[in-house]
Amino acid sequence: MSKALLYIAILGFLAACTTKSAVEVFYVGDVEVRLYSSRQAMVRELPEVMQLADNLRVTDKVIKVFGYYDREKKVIYSVDDARTVIHEFRHHLEPHWNHELAVSHPASE
Ligand SMILES: [Zn+2]
Repeated sequence: MSKALLYIAILGFLAACTTKSAVEVFYVGDVEVRLYSSRQAMVRELPEVMQLADNLRVTDKVIKVFGYYDREKKVIYSVDDARTVIHEFRHHLEPHWNHELAVSHPASE
């Protein structure tokens, strides 16, 4: 392996470590809460259907996923933002809570 390739491999390893440490995991009762410092890193760990929904264009708006509650596994995925975490906890505490999809960011960006 050439020196350049070795450096690239090391950089790749460091990047993987950085990505891993960007999630903070803790438990509230039997609910696993996963807080991500990067929205993109969080979306990559969501079920495929949520990954597909992210950045989806709806008329003049774009869907951005900031959090998700996996009811079956009792796991909350969220960006590191209190409002989003509370929102996802509400899905856990109030299983029948229904809300409209939060759509933000004009498509013109
Ligand atoms: Zn919600």
